Amino acid sequence: MPDAAASPDPRIASAPVTSGMLESLRAIVGDKGLILDEHDKQPFLTDWRGSLAGRAAAVVRPANTEEVSNVVKLCHDNGVAIVPQGGNTGLMGGATPWPDHTGILLSLGRMNRVLHVDPVGYAMTVEAGCILQTLQETAAGHDRFFPLSLGAQGSCMIGGNLSTNAGGVQVLRYGNARNLVLGLEVVLPSGEVWDGLRALKKDNTGYDLKHLFMGAEGTLGIITKAVLKLWPTPKDVCTAWLAIRDVKAAVDILSAAYAASDDNVGSCELMSRACTDLVLRHVPGLQDPLKAETDWYLLLEWSSSRPRQDGATGLSDKMEQFLADQLETGRVLNAVIAQTEAQSRNMWRIRESVAEASRAEGPGLSYDVSVAVSKIPEFIDQGIKAVLDILPTIRPYPLGHIGDGNLHFSFMGPVGMDRQTLTQYSAAITRVVNDLIAAMGGSISAEHGIGIEKIDELAHYRSKTELDVMRTIKRALDPKNIMNPGKILRI
Ligand SMILES: Cc1cc2nc3c(=O)[nH]c(=O)nc-3n(C[C@H](O)[C@H](O)[C@H](O)COP(=O)(O)OP(=O)(O)OC[C@H]3O[C@@H](n4cnc5c(N)ncnc54)[C@H](O)[C@@H]3O)c2cc1C
Repeated sequence: MPDAAASPDPRIASAPVTSGMLESLRAIVGDKGLILDEHDKQPFLTDWRGSLAGRAAAVVRPANTEEVSNVVKLCHDNGVAIVPQGGNTGLMGGATPWPDHTGILLSLGRMNRVLHVDPVGYAMTVEAGCILQTLQETAAGHDRFFPLSLGAQGSCMIGGNLSTNAGGVQVLRYGNARNLVLGLEVVLPSGEVWDGLRALKKDNTGYDLKHLFMGAEGTLGIITKAVLKLWPTPKDVCTAWLAIRDVKAAVDILSAAYAASDDNVGSCELMSRACTDLVLRHVPGLQDPLKAETDWYLLLEWSSSRPRQDGATGLSDKMEQFLADQLETGRVLNAVIAQTEAQSRNMWRIRESVAEASRAEGPGLSYDVSVAVSKIPEFIDQGIKAVLDILPTIRPYPLGHIGDGNLHFSFMGPVGMDRQTLTQYSAAITRVVNDLIAAMGGSISAEHGIGIEKIDELAHYRSKTELDVMRTIKRALDPKNIMNPGKILRI
């Protein structure tokens, strides 16, 4: 397992954890909450992709907010750095300690209780270590819907989702993770607990502090609880897989779909033929929904909380009419509407398994970027040409949450090329991709965050003013720089 790159700044080096401190940690969290054995620590110290590995003197697993607070206070008083971790599925290395990290890793996994569900008020209060899928199921059990949905939902945790301000496949209608939150409880780097666990839709009492911690990737404090918003359960859902002429057609289809569906577009995911084939190669048990003479496909889902009434026109009737119209325009070449839950699940599993299939395929480069939706065709076209100019045998695998203007602009290395050789090209490829994104007014990180992987890119593309404000906030909340140091920013 390769180590992560050397840490970016000697000032992130924290004080070592002494044997006396280990005993104090044990007194706070008990034997169940302290992992010291090197082998047992390993799953927490390597990232999901298996490309980063770090160190920690101990993995600490508190059972409640009071224990988190006491652990953080102890670390604060001793100048010991903390890396917070949820489900460890983040893709930017934010949850992986640096190789020279001498502090602790704090895992939220034992804090996994749903504390309260308020179906009437459409809200749910949960601990940070709840698995995302458990929360979706809990909401469904109350005939409510928690919309955050992504490929890692079986193992990622809500604290991690909020700390990365995760996106996923329902952003188009419901917004990204920060839009799904009413209140937070956070342990600050001093160990003090900020109780912002309010279930209020309206609260204009000064700065909205909760938004500081969402997307902060654990650099400003540890999210311990959240009040989440719930929605009515979709009762009429129609999922379709479309073979389309090109990427411009995808943007036009989406634009027309809003009105045609009576504002019921839930998801719109662009898939390249290459991505579908990649998934079918590596993930067993999936069927190709549709093969046509085109490189581009669209997974389009409409959903409504209004159940389909007998005799009334449902979403699938409207979708059929819409697809017929789009066939006539030439944007859609062929399409299939899922007739069963299993067919719909198959379509979604293909989309959600791309990360897993890419990991199995071998070394690659992936850029999680966003531009205005209307600029996506131009970006894909110019971006692929620019990358092929640098490495003509690299294999493009583009896909994305096209309705959010978010592309996973991904490439697999040329057949037979090892990771080390591919790495020699990555700096040049990253520069052309990100320069193009910047020139088109886009973002170099749409939903995965910065972590370790994009620190240099953030410093390169964000203005001095923005970086100064970020550093000012970080220094004010964490003057000792113990909270996930060396992630997002160099201080
Ligand atoms: C197969 C797959 C598909 C994915 N699909 C998507 C997608 O569609 N959209 C998307 O946005 N992302 C996606 N991701 C990445 C996504 O960011 C994570 O899956 C998820 O949001 C992170 O949650 P986690 O609990 O695993 O956090 P971790 O990986 O454990 O941590 C992520 C960051 O948050 C910090 N952190 C974790 N918990 C806390 C806490 N309680 N308080 C403070 N800081 C904390 C960590 O220090 C780290 O910086 C995908 C990942 C995989 C593996």
